[in-house]
Amino acid sequence: MQYTWNDIERHVAACTHCPLSRTRQRPVMGRGDHQAALMLIAEAPGGQEDQQGIPFVGRSGEILDDLLRDCGLSREEIYITNILKCHPPGNRDPKEEEKEACFPYLKYETYLLKPKIIVCLGRVAAQRIISSDFKITRQHGTWTYRKNCALTATYHPSAILRDISKYEIVKEDFCEIVKKRTELYTHSSI
Ligand code: SF4
Repeated sequence: MQYTWNDIERHVAACTHCPLSRTRQRPVMGRGDHQAALMLIAEAPGGQEDQQGIPFVGRSGEILDDLLRDCGLSREEIYITNILKCHPPGNRDPKEEEKEACFPYLKYETYLLKPKIIVCLGRVAAQRIISSDFKITRQHGTWTYRKNCALTATYHPSAILRDISKYEIVKEDFCEIVKKRTELYTHSSI
């Protein structure tokens, strides 16, 4: 069966496939341009996202918007989502079984979007999507290629909240991502 974006959203809204369904306020489906070449994937919704049902609101969202703006991008041009669609209590790391239970939704999102670039935000997303031994401190900003997609990772905006000196590092990574997108547009028919 071919799922649509609405189908995925409906399934996520009613999902009880892991215990987070009992503690969440609202599930948080990905948002953005369904034609975007650029897909951002973080680990899980935070407390404010849980309340509003929208990814990247609150302080982390503001930092993400600043980073995008500083590199000439906006949310309207990207698609942003999480591995988990429900908030882990206390912002703890997602458990393996939760990631496995939720991963099919991310797979459907990726299948429908067919991104040219995937950007993992933070260690948890990078280790689930790029490589299980990915070291965000040493490997952020590096590129991996899989089928027709370029993958990279940078720090999660919440890491900037804890250490403002990371802002410039993440900004550099984002500016390289914008260059890569331009390169891919130039060398393909997308
Ligand atoms: S985290 Fe994912 S698998 Fe778990 S209840 Fe939420 S939508 Fe379902």
